[in-house]
Amino acid sequence: VPPRADLKKILADLPKMQARLTSNENPFGPSEKAKKALMEAVNESCRYPRERIMALRAAIAKEEGVSEEHVLLGAGSSDLLLAAALKYADKGGSILSADPTYASLVRSAVDVGAGWEKVPLTKDFAHDLDAMAKKVSDSTSLVYIVNPNNPTGTITPADKLRSFCESVSKRKPIFIDEAYIDYMADPKSQTMVDCVRKGQNVIVARTFSKVHGFAGLRVGYAIAQPEVIKELGKYTNGGFNVSATSASAALASLHDKEFTQYCVQKNKEAKDFTYDVLKKEGYTPLDSHTNFVMFPLKMNGKKFTEEMLKRGVGLRSWEFYDQQWCRVSMGTMDDMKLFADAFRQLS
Ligand code: PLP
Repeated sequence: VPPRADLKKILADLPKMQARLTSNENPFGPSEKAKKALMEAVNESCRYPRERIMALRAAIAKEEGVSEEHVLLGAGSSDLLLAAALKYADKGGSILSADPTYASLVRSAVDVGAGWEKVPLTKDFAHDLDAMAKKVSDSTSLVYIVNPNNPTGTITPADKLRSFCESVSKRKPIFIDEAYIDYMADPKSQTMVDCVRKGQNVIVARTFSKVHGFAGLRVGYAIAQPEVIKELGKYTNGGFNVSATSASAALASLHDKEFTQYCVQKNKEAKDFTYDVLKKEGYTPLDSHTNFVMFPLKMNGKKFTEEMLKRGVGLRSWEFYDQQWCRVSMGTMDDMKLFADAFRQLS
């Protein structure tokens, strides 16, 4: 399992970054409406956040077409990934996931003694659902699927994932991490929340960190069967990990469709520009459905990120399938121009 990020190194590198393209943040958030709600909530923040949390939970339940008992809030979706890792790893067993994928849940489970069963992505960089279904065994404690996937940005077709959920969830719980789903053309047709509505043992996790631009405010949620929500709640203080200020801001942002559409549009412009730069330099980026782009490098990844950092651009490299890769998050157009100038010097 990839190691945890080295916080000391990150903190040392941050001041060198004019363009911070390391962590798939949204530079346009939070929205003005969210900031206003947050400031108003500051005045009452001597009070515990109960009613603000309940209001956010009710609004999310309504938006997702489920009952409030199907919703659990977290301080970012990381909170819920950790809760699932702790809940499902407590009796040993293993987490089944793709490789590469977002490592947080797997790492937390392995830290407390679980195993990791990994399945490579298909040649289109989708989850290999047939191979994953075959790998499910008595020792599997949870199936973890990230769609769209991180770090590749690629998707697993919703119809195939839906039939996978329908059959495999009868045997084992499935955790679908939809952190980036809001960047897709029609998120409502892509989400697996309908599997939860049909009563399947599926947990869907979402975050406000991406399209809502809340990475620093820490709000996420899970949708699952009420008995599963109760269980996960044991590891997240029942959802009371969210501050009154963040819950109020999230409630304002949840319905601010104009703002999220603006962010999706800005992200598309940055992505089109980045694809153009990469392709003109002879690179072949993966087909991204997120706010980041992954492309195969022609040099050592560590060397590449170091050289880019010297030029003020922070990004990340990976190694998988005998290939070095770079993942660049989409920033403002100024950020992407800085990326393009530095990249052209190195390619
Ligand atoms: N899931 C995926 C796939 C992610 O990429 C991230 C963060 O980058 C997270 C979950 C966690 O995000 P947060 O804890 O900010 O909601």
